Amino acid sequence: MTLIMKITDDGSQYSERLVDLLGEFGVDPAVDDEIDELSLLPAYVLAGASIRTEAHSHGTHMHVVAINVEIGDELEEAFYEALAQVLDAGDEDEDDD
Ligand SMILES: [Zn+2]
Repeated sequence: MTLIMKITDDGSQYSERLVDLLGEFGVDPAVDDEIDELSLLPAYVLAGASIRTEAHSHGTHMHVVAINVEIGDELEEAFYEALAQVLDAGDEDEDDD
């Protein structure tokens, strides 16, 4: 698996290629806030990525420590292509049906 994005309390890390691709769609990870980062997670999943959440609990209280977005090594090349299509489709969602 290759880590393409990781969200923690300290901020987010993106693969260079993901930053480039998001930039083509007007998303700048350095500027946007946490809500925007989370709102893109379904698009990554649709493009074949897996979400791995790290959390720990203190009895009934819990913390999410990190959210990792990972892609299988053999899927990495196709992931960026698929993600571009997903983001493209989202752009023209309106009256497509
Ligand atoms: Zn804790």
